Amino acid sequence: MNQINFQQPYLLYEKCECQMQLPVDKMKVKKEKDGYLLSYKTTCPSCGTEYDKAFHITENPLDFSDHVNAFKVLPALKDELAVVKLDSLKGKIKDGELFFYGNYKHLRFFDNKIQDDVIVIDYSKS
Ligand SMILES: [Zn+2]
Repeated sequence: MNQINFQQPYLLYEKCECQMQLPVDKMKVKKEKDGYLLSYKTTCPSCGTEYDKAFHITENPLDFSDHVNAFKVLPALKDELAVVKLDSLKGKIKDGELFFYGNYKHLRFFDNKIQDDVIVIDYSKS
């Protein structure tokens, strides 16, 4: 495994300082002693800021939420898409594998209670 890929229905975006969101659809992966080193590079087409990111993922959850937005596209009843924005995005090692997940709070329309779900973000390896 040299790379992981994020595909529909999951969408990850690096948040640029200029408010643009830069798609992150793949990350390089390097095995390390106690986990994996993930890295990606991207350049903002609007303001030109270059991002060269690297994260060390271990069994302790690492929170990406401050600089990455994650969305899940849900099937909708009609032709439109329903898109959920996760409130958080975290990565860790679970059973020896990379594992990404986030929280999603939403208001239940039938009883007006806040429900807190965990959404697992799948990826493919290449
Ligand atoms: Zn920018």
